[in-house]
Amino acid sequence: MPITGIYGPDDFADRPQGQTPASHRAAPARPGAALPMPSLEWTPEVERATAPLYERVKHVIPSIEWPLLAPTIKAINELKQARGAVILAHNYQAPEIFHCVADIGGDSLQLAVEATKVKANIIVQCGVHFMAETSKLLNPDKTVLIPDSRAGCSLAASITGADVRLLREKFPGVPVVAYVNTSAEVKAEVDICCTSSNAVQVVESLNAPTVIFLPDRYLATYVASKTDVKIIAWKGACEVHERFKGEELRAFREADPTVQIIAHPECPPDVLAEADFTGSTAHMINWVREKRPRRLVMITECSMADNVRAELPDVEMLRPCNLCPHMKRITLANILESLLTLGEEVTIDPALAERARRSVERMINLKN
Ligand code: SF4
Repeated sequence: MPITGIYGPDDFADRPQGQTPASHRAAPARPGAALPMPSLEWTPEVERATAPLYERVKHVIPSIEWPLLAPTIKAINELKQARGAVILAHNYQAPEIFHCVADIGGDSLQLAVEATKVKANIIVQCGVHFMAETSKLLNPDKTVLIPDSRAGCSLAASITGADVRLLREKFPGVPVVAYVNTSAEVKAEVDICCTSSNAVQVVESLNAPTVIFLPDRYLATYVASKTDVKIIAWKGACEVHERFKGEELRAFREADPTVQIIAHPECPPDVLAEADFTGSTAHMINWVREKRPRRLVMITECSMADNVRAELPDVEMLRPCNLCPHMKRITLANILESLLTLGEEVTIDPALAERARRSVERMINLKN
């Protein structure tokens, strides 16, 4: 059914002005923690040491570019060992990060959950700020670093904890579900979190006739189309996925009727209507591994298509892809800097973290 109502900052006359979400909070590097910069020269030894890594990305990184990347990749991998650190990389990170320096790759929740299983005391999060916060929530005793704390997200920035309190006042007793793409401050105000993989399951688990689902209006619309629960949405959107258009997908289909199209549920409904499959990043990757389509249009962030193609070079990717400028703030250079200086450390107020952790853990426990 269509969503029951949709609200945003302009719908609350008494909303405090000038609010910004409590994201992008990170402590600077610890004094005295810095290690000296290693050599970043392209040498025969670097070429030898990184040859197995180049094999993984040779279909998506031209050989002429490798000498520019390999010295930093080698330095990061050595420093990671020396620091006892683990690197988590989201599916939207560039192939030289995802395939060459990351220990664990996946969607935001997979990363945070996997991080709870590793022995390393330092986590370097190659993704955006809310992901680093989620890792910190689930790993409170570990040091979580983000190479650039300005790596935000249009969804996380669309809503604050105060907005959730205003929604609760307007709809007393209606449970609130937050997509994991929200700040810790928002997670602390809601009943449970969800991902794009489990959103319908989470909504239905509440056994309520109506649920407030935030902040992504398109994911809310998708969930509403899959359940009888009435959905009240928020006017947030992912700036990457909302730019896709159904007509561009129809053009691909007209040019080659055999092409397969898969899309992320953060896309608008006219885009999802053209897709052969709709799913989260993890579900999309599994779908490609299983189906091995000859030609594929993957409607999500560009780097994910590169990362899948590095693994499955026989799948031809047609690409109306959009880059996420926030994800692209993370580079090999600032990952190296982060390991050298142990900056920037993600911190969350312990009382707020306690409440936010409950929402995330409630979802994880539901899954099991
Ligand atoms: S792709 Fe969209 S949802 Fe993901 S970090 Fe970028 S803006 Fe946020």
